[in-house]
Amino acid sequence: MQHFASDNYAGICPEALTALLAANDGHVRSYGDDEWTLRAADRLRDVFEADCDVYFVFNGTAANSLALAALCQSYHSVICHQLAHVETDECGAPQFFSNGARLLAVGGEQGKLTPAAIVEVVTRRSDIHYPKPKVVTLTQASEVGTVYRPDELQAITATAHQLGLRVHMDGARFANAVAGSGVSPADLTWRAGVDVLCFGGTKMGLPVGEAVVFFDRRLADDFAYRCKQAGQLASKMRFLSAPWLGILEGGAWLRHAAHANAMAQRLAGGLARVAGLRLLFPVDANGVFVQLPNPVEQDLRARGWLFYTFIGAGGARFMCGWDTAPETVDRLLADICQLADGA
Ligand SMILES: *Cc1c(COP(=O)(O)O)cnc(C)c1O
Repeated sequence: MQHFASDNYAGICPEALTALLAANDGHVRSYGDDEWTLRAADRLRDVFEADCDVYFVFNGTAANSLALAALCQSYHSVICHQLAHVETDECGAPQFFSNGARLLAVGGEQGKLTPAAIVEVVTRRSDIHYPKPKVVTLTQASEVGTVYRPDELQAITATAHQLGLRVHMDGARFANAVAGSGVSPADLTWRAGVDVLCFGGTKMGLPVGEAVVFFDRRLADDFAYRCKQAGQLASKMRFLSAPWLGILEGGAWLRHAAHANAMAQRLAGGLARVAGLRLLFPVDANGVFVQLPNPVEQDLRARGWLFYTFIGAGGARFMCGWDTAPETVDRLLADICQLADGA
């Protein structure tokens, strides 16, 4: 049975699995000095149309934390949205890996940061007793399924850079943001002023792994040591990188993301037609948030559906993945219609 709890409930997509199996052939150099890893990094440079520096790590928490640690000293602070994964779901890892840098969480409509909020938090204090703001981190697509447009990104990064801050992007669902916006990967990142991207592979259909992409190579100084010390340097690196090659070559990454987004649109369209239900956010990517009456939520669970209600600003979250079938969406919709009708 398929579920809507998270896009990481799905298995490995065929293109990634084929590449993984193809990489399982003979002996090759370890620790990333292999042709799979070199080619996957080159394909990422093609995707971003930039000579960026690329590192493959095991998961998103490590990618975010190590990237943020590379951007600041222990006495610095990182400005994030109050719903940001780094703030709510990483168990303090950004502080841990940066040896104490603090997160400064701010509000913002639809899960998005604004230039005004950044200015407010940076100018609030300038004394020696406060951790000095050094980084802005934003999530693309956001934790509530919205996507920053290039003009929104440019406004944020211009403000950040004027204030002497670096910009990090948590792209656990970057593929969905690209597919949903129709904007090129370059225009959603470095051309809009993003310094470092954590590009999520897991939720896109890889078995495991995220890519840390430095558009400003100077920021990646000694980053390999940071990964190694944190236990994030894979010795059989080819099995992290080959699946990336599988989904990048031939464009499967964008096709799968577009499919997941389309399934979210199908679900949102159906929910909008159910009397009494309210969508909580625009559906820009692959997540749908809806306020369900309590009995409907409970009865859905009783029928076996798995979904989260603790993420974002409340409500039920339904995530679609690369393999979410239209029939699954329609079965969920039929159950919700039936239950909402009786509620
Ligand atoms: C899933 C996710 C991550 C990565 O989580 P891991 O479980 O550490 O791989 C990071 N940011 C966001 C917004 C996510 O949804």
